[in-house]
Amino acid sequence: MPTLPLAPGSTIGVLGGGQLGRMLALAAARLGFDVVILTPERDAPASRVAAGTIEAAFDDRRALQTLAKTCQAVTFEFENVPAAALEALTELGVEVAPPVQALAVAQDRFEEKSFLNGVGLPTVAFANVDGPQDLRRALRELGSPLLLKTRSGGYDGKGQIWVTRPKEADEALASLGGRPAIAEAPADFRRELAIVAARGRDGEIALYPLTESHHENGVLRRTSAPVEGAPRAVAEAERFAASLLNSLEYVGVLGLELFERDDGSLLINEFAPRVHNTGHWTLDGCEVDQFEQHIRAIAGWPLGPTAAVAHVEMTNLLGAEAGRWRRLAREPETRLWLYGKGEAAPGRKMGHVNRLRKLD
Ligand code: AMP
Repeated sequence: MPTLPLAPGSTIGVLGGGQLGRMLALAAARLGFDVVILTPERDAPASRVAAGTIEAAFDDRRALQTLAKTCQAVTFEFENVPAAALEALTELGVEVAPPVQALAVAQDRFEEKSFLNGVGLPTVAFANVDGPQDLRRALRELGSPLLLKTRSGGYDGKGQIWVTRPKEADEALASLGGRPAIAEAPADFRRELAIVAARGRDGEIALYPLTESHHENGVLRRTSAPVEGAPRAVAEAERFAASLLNSLEYVGVLGLELFERDDGSLLINEFAPRVHNTGHWTLDGCEVDQFEQHIRAIAGWPLGPTAAVAHVEMTNLLGAEAGRWRRLAREPETRLWLYGKGEAAPGRKMGHVNRLRKLD
């Protein structure tokens, strides 16, 4: 095992080559680290800014061996990497963070909600659904409507369908490809919030300011940060995040998605064991951004300060919207982040902008 803290000049491996890996690699480079990306994708956004890339499947044994030999620590930017790959890397003697358990729990909505409730954190009521009978029982016991979601593999609102009546059960399950599912009671929220949080190797915790999320078609569209005038929500979100980080003995940055109900109380929707889209505003809006924070945490460095230095409205640039870079580059209050992706497929996250406003 390498000695921690990792000295500049060390190499950090990242599983996954998307924009999150790209921004992690940029942050790591600034601290003097080299990053090697493992991705099955040719010419991935992260590879274009990293010191090296191993182009292979995540479960390719030889690729994992090479990564373990090259790197003193390994992390991931993609939630669907197989937990077995992280286990193999740990066995090969490399420091892996965040912990495998956090990834495994977050990959399965039923395990995730069960874990959260098990450590005293609130979610909507839910039930495991292996077949139409389970769904009909859930409609009887939890009420109607219910949101049916695949247990694993869903993201950005994909793999979800509302079910109202028992007779819709078969069709709803078929529309999810007959995959194992979870039925959730409606959250009845007045707004969606998120908090990004970090835990260091020594257990130190750093919490970013609370933000509000605006979704369109299940995809994050905008983040407004920081949320003001909601002391109850801030206190609850911070308590939930710290409690979750400690329960998982977490190392690294984590994104926690929340529902705020009419009475001001919060429920946890889900967590992502990685840097998070709702934390992109920190790149220009906080003292130390979430990407540097994640690198600091996994390298065993002290965590950095998280206070806001500006109000930020973060907007994702989806598909052809990134083509507006000329106009956006002329706006003095706008910071432009483009991910170097070739094909601007509709809805694809091509970049984001942070629009800054001075703190009052
Ligand atoms: P998810 O993929 O689980 O994060 O869900 C995507 C979006 O669907 C969330 O951001 C919410 O807007 C909505 N959503 C998810 N779960 C529920 C729920 N139980 N009740 C109401 N809306 C939900």
